Amino acid sequence: MSLVVMKFGGTSVEDPAAIGRTAAIVAGRVALGKQPVVVVSAMAKVTDQLLRAAAAAAQGDRTGAMAISTRLRSRHRDTAAALIENSADSAALIELIDQKFDSLDEILRGLAAILELTPRISDLIVSYGERISSRIVAAAFRERGIDAVHVDAREIIVTDSQFQRAVPLDAVIDKRAQEKLLPLTSLGKVPVMGGFIASNEAGITTTIGRGGSDFTGALVGGALSAEAIEIWTDVDGIMTTDPRVCPDALRVKVISFEEAAELAYFGAKVLHPATILPAVKKNIPVLVLNSRNAACEGTRITSLAPHCKSPFKSIAVKKKLSIIDVVASRMLMTHGYMSEIFAIFDKHQCAVDMVSTSEVSVSLTVDSNEKLPAIAADLSKLADVKYEGRKALVCMVGEDIRGQSGMAAQVFSAIRHINVRMISQGASEINMSFMIDEDDADEAVRSLHAAFFKDPDPAIFDVEARKV
Ligand code: ADP
Ligand code: ASP
Ligand code: MG
Repeated sequence: MSLVVMKFGGTSVEDPAAIGRTAAIVAGRVALGKQPVVVVSAMAKVTDQLLRAAAAAAQGDRTGAMAISTRLRSRHRDTAAALIENSADSAALIELIDQKFDSLDEILRGLAAILELTPRISDLIVSYGERISSRIVAAAFRERGIDAVHVDAREIIVTDSQFQRAVPLDAVIDKRAQEKLLPLTSLGKVPVMGGFIASNEAGITTTIGRGGSDFTGALVGGALSAEAIEIWTDVDGIMTTDPRVCPDALRVKVISFEEAAELAYFGAKVLHPATILPAVKKNIPVLVLNSRNAACEGTRITSLAPHCKSPFKSIAVKKKLSIIDVVASRMLMTHGYMSEIFAIFDKHQCAVDMVSTSEVSVSLTVDSNEKLPAIAADLSKLADVKYEGRKALVCMVGEDIRGQSGMAAQVFSAIRHINVRMISQGASEINMSFMIDEDDADEAVRSLHAAFFKDPDPAIFDVEARKV
């Protein structure tokens, strides 16, 4: 059986037209004899709006929270009505949407009375996005002749209890996915489930981190040993950089797991950073595809990518970072000093992206802004501390950067007009990264792209697209 997991992001289910395209793509796979399992995000921007409603309610702004919920209710109802012509099916779906929004409203009203938004309640509130979108998509598929069955993702994706960024429990997920999904696919049915949402072992709703539907798709693909994991989005694939920043960006036709993971980790939003892990474990190819341009072959991510003649494959940017400088003015760095510093970051559960040291100082970059004052207070017991926000990390990924002499000189010459704060080329052979001011980031990316993607290797990049 050739089972494929097809994950559709928010823009691929944003309105009736997008859901119609998505249905046609899935029907196309079924017609080819494939056995799809479909994972969908909330409709575009819904997660942000639910979070906004939660924040308003928690501040006592009950009217504001209700206004957001009412707008969302209409959007989902209108989408359902436009997609489902059969009046009984349409009425049943709208009734179901109303029930979900009634319970959401109850939670928001409760929150406006309690005025305390815990991570657990936040997860419960945002879960409505995927819970409702997956119902609408399943009904729309059925209306279009696909034998779709809605499956509650929370019965399959089981996690620990770290609300908002819960960690999936792989062994439980493997077992649940096999028990609940394979009986459906073996009957030729198409399971449709929400991404991003999960539950802990006690059945309480959790979520696996923003952008996490890609990760859900990969977890399900890994559990079912799928033939491929398809990530359907609004761009032609992984591009040489974010096409919103640099319209000249080209599609990367093929890239390795390692390179894609590095790009995702360092900010290429097209893929959630954890997506690659389940795929690597079972060596399942991941395809990034465009639901608005389904004929395009997208990007293929596999264990081994062919040799690329160009030095870099893609440029990623991670914004909203801070730099912390720890200066041990009173003493030289002593044995155990670094571990004391890292213990503080650990205590605050704050991941460090980049580190550079001198004899008396350490600079670190972190992607948290809200935890910084508390971290700085703890660090100041050890040394003098300064921190600065609004930084961006630019990460250039390529096959063998370390092996190519003079590469750093070429990179920094391309952005000589920009002030570079920290540089790292040590940790990985395939990544060169550096830290700059956030305001310089887009300009830096465009300059680097112009310098390094002038004459790209046609075996790896879609150079034809540039000619048209
Ligand atoms: P979805 O809702 O389908 O998950 P996302 O918005 O999460 O989609 O990710 C797709 C977006 O990622 C694109 O619209 C694009 O702006 C952005 N992006 C950032 N870096 C890249 C890159 N290197 N290649 C392609 N897209 C990128
Ligand atoms: N809806 C969730 C988010 O916006 C998950 C996802 O879209 O991948 O973060
Ligand atoms: Mg995404």
